[in-house]
Amino acid sequence: MRYISTRGGVEPIEFQDAVLMGLGDDGGLIIPESIPDVSGKLDEWRKLSYAELAFEVISLFASDIPAADLKELIDKTYGEAFAGGVAPVVPVGDVFVMEMWHGPTLAFKDVALQLLGNLFEYILERRGGRMNILGATSGDTGSAAIAGIRGRSGIDIFVMHPHGRVSSIQERQMTTVPDANVHNIAVEGSFDDCQRIMKNLATDLPFKRKYSLGAINSVNWARVLAQIVYYFSGVFGVQDAAPAGGRRPAGASGVRICVPTGNFGDILAGWYAMRMGCPISRLILATNENDILSRFFNTGQYRLGQDHQTLAPAMDIQVASNFERYLYYRIGEDPAELRRLMQQFAETGSLHVKPGPDGTVDSAFISDSADTDDVLNAIRRVHEEHGYLIDPHTACGWSVADRVAAPDNNEPILCLATAHPAKFPDAIRQGTGKDIAHHPVIDALADLPTRCKLLPNDEQAVRDFIIRTKGTDQ
Ligand SMILES: *Cc1c(COP(=O)(O)O)cnc(C)c1O
Repeated sequence: MRYISTRGGVEPIEFQDAVLMGLGDDGGLIIPESIPDVSGKLDEWRKLSYAELAFEVISLFASDIPAADLKELIDKTYGEAFAGGVAPVVPVGDVFVMEMWHGPTLAFKDVALQLLGNLFEYILERRGGRMNILGATSGDTGSAAIAGIRGRSGIDIFVMHPHGRVSSIQERQMTTVPDANVHNIAVEGSFDDCQRIMKNLATDLPFKRKYSLGAINSVNWARVLAQIVYYFSGVFGVQDAAPAGGRRPAGASGVRICVPTGNFGDILAGWYAMRMGCPISRLILATNENDILSRFFNTGQYRLGQDHQTLAPAMDIQVASNFERYLYYRIGEDPAELRRLMQQFAETGSLHVKPGPDGTVDSAFISDSADTDDVLNAIRRVHEEHGYLIDPHTACGWSVADRVAAPDNNEPILCLATAHPAKFPDAIRQGTGKDIAHHPVIDALADLPTRCKLLPNDEQAVRDFIIRTKGTDQ
């Protein structure tokens, strides 16, 4: 499989080059040249373990890695680090929940970032050279990325977070990591400032090349790819399960999958899985009050809205970096038209796509948003009725799934549980009135020493910090 850019300015490249490139050198997003159809393989695939399934899916897209190497890399990724299972499916009332928080930092991002860390290391070991990862985080990505890269040889990681605007647990998950190749930067600004600095440095090609800058955010194709796997395993898990409540297992029909959405990376992987032939009937896209994506799927208008701070901070995103990948397909894979739309969006904060004949933008998606009351209600209700705790991101999804689940549709619903509730104890306390969200991994952070560099909200300051840090030991 070879890779191109949504903006048409990257000559076809192999998988390993796509992983190293991160953001396309033309400012676009890297995508595969084609999407394989695997519908004939489902019966065989449903018998596989998670690691075996991951090998089948990923090898279709990573043809420049020898099969034996890829297998070893995947077995190493999805072994010990996910002792509780990678993405187990459990029934909760009459829906199914896919628990995606069994990795080292208790968020679903571990599933992709553990693989990406191993991929970077594999590629650098063979090609030689070093690499510097630059990331921006509103909370969860940073710790999962650090956990994927810490202690690896040949790679340093620089993670910017907005100073004072991530939760203390999230901050400690990042700044207590002692490895010398981990550099935390607190920027005196917002998450969008951090993301802007990152994007500016990643499109400064001389700097990007000199310091071998790589990307760990979900513009990196390998992250989307790793996430495609659990849409298959999730559907198989539901289909194999006993009927839950009144909803029969899918059998011949499909499964509706509800995804709490921020940067559109996770649900985009679901969309690729659907295109590959995974029996997903609908993707339910749930946002919080930062609802640009749900407004888009309901109206065709993609327009910047007001920025809200919510109980689900990993979804407090206005400009979803992966949306460009989806838009490329939606407008008929036309790079010139895509460049025109993105230019228009950059200039006016808005772009428009013509709805289809049925009035919706895409019949693959149903979409809605959840506000703070919805989230707290979902946390409370799921706990009261089922004795099961969900985190505020998962609760956004739960609330939306509940609202859009037409009673006459008995296709099963699978809700993605994207973080462990112990990462958000305040929201759990507000929802349930009890202090019941704990996890030993989080409790253990309390007394550890922290390391972090405070920098002004300034691209040059971050650039200088990277140069200074790398100047001394490169
Ligand atoms: C990142 C994140 C999301 C949003 O995923 P996207 O791929 O950005 O859409 C949802 N929930 C949690 C807990 C997250 O960390």
